[in-house]
Amino acid sequence: MMERGRRWKVTTSDAFSVAFLITAVLSVFYFEIFVVLYGVEGGYFPRPLHVLNAFFILSNILGNYIMVIMTDSSTKKITLPVLLKPTWHLCPICQVNAPPRAYHCDKCNCCLFKRDHHCTFAGCCIGLKNFRYFLVFLFYLSLGCFYATVFNMYFIWDYLGGFSLFSVIAHIVPFVFWLFGYLCFRVFIYTMLSMLALVGFLFVGNLFVFHVQNMLRNQTTFEKNTGSRIYDLGWKQNIVECLGENYIRVFICPLCVSPLPSDGLSFVAHQNAPSPTLQPPLKVARNNLRQRHS
Ligand SMILES: [Zn+2]
Ligand SMILES: [Zn+2]
Repeated sequence: MMERGRRWKVTTSDAFSVAFLITAVLSVFYFEIFVVLYGVEGGYFPRPLHVLNAFFILSNILGNYIMVIMTDSSTKKITLPVLLKPTWHLCPICQVNAPPRAYHCDKCNCCLFKRDHHCTFAGCCIGLKNFRYFLVFLFYLSLGCFYATVFNMYFIWDYLGGFSLFSVIAHIVPFVFWLFGYLCFRVFIYTMLSMLALVGFLFVGNLFVFHVQNMLRNQTTFEKNTGSRIYDLGWKQNIVECLGENYIRVFICPLCVSPLPSDGLSFVAHQNAPSPTLQPPLKVARNNLRQRHS
């Protein structure tokens, strides 16, 4: 079962990132539907089909984004054993015995099952239970940015006076061209939104590929950085371990239920794998604790 309804506390920098992401997604969506789509031919597909596609992509971006935030991967609601089990470790900040792959996050101020990283654009950690939403969110965000970029390439050059060296440079640094009066304010905004979609595609697409590679090896970011592959059960089972049993349906709707094989307390390691031992995040947590008490 997914644990939901957690209290969402965000730092100031996270709040700015969250506000930026929501504003950027909704602005590009509005621009594509109400400006670009009516400025270019529909191509091989009729215009209503593009509108339907856009709404499907947007609903998956926002739906999975909300689920990333709402799904609690922390150890807070679970009663953890008092006695330290083999391969477990004591979190000196939470003062609880944490299972393998559960690490402490200073920003969230708790330990999280199979912690991957703290996502500043969601204002929370990505862990065992919200990884599927995070990955699908990245998929649809990069797909949406790519879709928008293809349309923008047909649209924006007309406003920039055709494809030329001038228009390419104006597309890269529209602010400078607007400042010196080469672009009117409307074209400046159009060019900025077009650039936002292009940069979004390159950035988010890269992030998506990175996390797919990790998923195919069943590695967290920390395990990838340390070269640990003890939970690698083969790419097919690794997908199930990360996205759940219904790993195809999760790409259709964020509300699709997809039970995970692990409850976060134990994980199947591949045969002949060395036992997981105390790992650097614990040392980091200890150092943080020392700094707090000094
Ligand atoms: Zn902790
Ligand atoms: Zn965190």
